[in-house]
Amino acid sequence: MINADYQVATSAGDAVALKHRHPEAAFIGGGTNLVDLMKADVARPPLLIDVTHLPLQEVVELRDGGLRIGALARNSDTANHALVRSRYPLLSQALLAGASAQLRNMATAGGNLLQRTRCYYFYDTGFAACNKREPGSGCAAREGRNRIHAILGASPQCVATHPSDMAVALAALRASVRVLGPGGEREIALADFHRLPGDTPDRDTQLAADELIVAIDLPPPRFARAAHYLKVRDRASYAFALVSVAAALDMADDGTVRDAALALGGVAHKPWRLPAAEQALAGRRLDSAGIARAADILLAGNAPLADNGFKVELARRGIERALRTAAAQGATS
Ligand SMILES: Cc1cc2nc3c(=O)[nH]c(=O)nc-3n(C[C@H](O)[C@H](O)[C@H](O)COP(=O)(O)OP(=O)(O)OC[C@H]3O[C@@H](n4cnc5c(N)ncnc54)[C@H](O)[C@@H]3O)c2cc1C
Ligand code: SF4
Repeated sequence: MINADYQVATSAGDAVALKHRHPEAAFIGGGTNLVDLMKADVARPPLLIDVTHLPLQEVVELRDGGLRIGALARNSDTANHALVRSRYPLLSQALLAGASAQLRNMATAGGNLLQRTRCYYFYDTGFAACNKREPGSGCAAREGRNRIHAILGASPQCVATHPSDMAVALAALRASVRVLGPGGEREIALADFHRLPGDTPDRDTQLAADELIVAIDLPPPRFARAAHYLKVRDRASYAFALVSVAAALDMADDGTVRDAALALGGVAHKPWRLPAAEQALAGRRLDSAGIARAADILLAGNAPLADNGFKVELARRGIERALRTAAAQGATS
């Protein structure tokens, strides 16, 4: 564990100004990922900027009928919020599938989006080769143990996956992230917030070094009745997803799918959502042909590694099960 200075931010603007002056500093939310990384000597911020006292903890309804989740709302509070449970059950389910009750009580919405990959080699500094930790050093996972790694969108430089369950549901629900920088606020679509690794896997997201996440916005609810978050993992709890599927349907009374929300987790460096896969389900009844078409689109170009070919079939079956479970819930609610 390294020594770091510590300062409490008194306002969001103060936090951003501090980070602008000290680009190597780190904001600290619940600390459930950052402190682990500091203990492992992977993160070495000289200054911790504590943002937990900022008034960004509320979940509030927006004028257009959508919902704003403050960046400091705790995962357990968000998952159990009455409006989240009733209008965005997919998000509530995804949050409750993550970590443990104790961790969810600490973890914040902003910190959850920015948690780092669980690639073993990234956490273990005994392995010198990790382009995400040390740009230009190589990638130990490519020829090492890569059962948990990416099958889509990876690069020769990095095959890591993004671990957040919440982000997968948010991508499916077409959420956006509000960030504050020295020049003011901007909004980034959740689906564009996380990056593919390319030649710069050390950068996980589009966030600039001096930007603070202030909120996550959800559009007005369309997928409240038929939603299912399926998480397939090695243990029934307290484990990250091998593959997850966020699926929700907006169904007409005659059983036609008006709109679908669909994203995969555990398969890429970001939540994996392709609007064309959702369009393949719309305008028809949910049937095997439509589901297979959506899966084909989502999994096109998959490139498994030595140990993770099983993820392709797992994702295909997961897509079918999640969509059918969502539809069945819609039919009974
Ligand atoms: C044993 C264990 C099991 C877990 N299992 C799961 C799981 O199954 N699914 C899952 O999704 N997660 C899981 N997690 C991860 C957990 O959800 C994250 O650690 C947590 O969400 C991070 O939130 P935090 O507030 O503690 O972030 P911190 O640790 O405080 O911060 C994480 C990162 O975000 C930055 N940051 C924090 N807030 C902001 C902000 N507002 N603006 C800009 N930057 C910010 C920090 O600088 C840091 O880089 C697990 C964690 C552990 C330890
Ligand atoms: S997959 Fe990415 S995070 Fe893992 S060792 Fe390779 S470069 Fe590092």
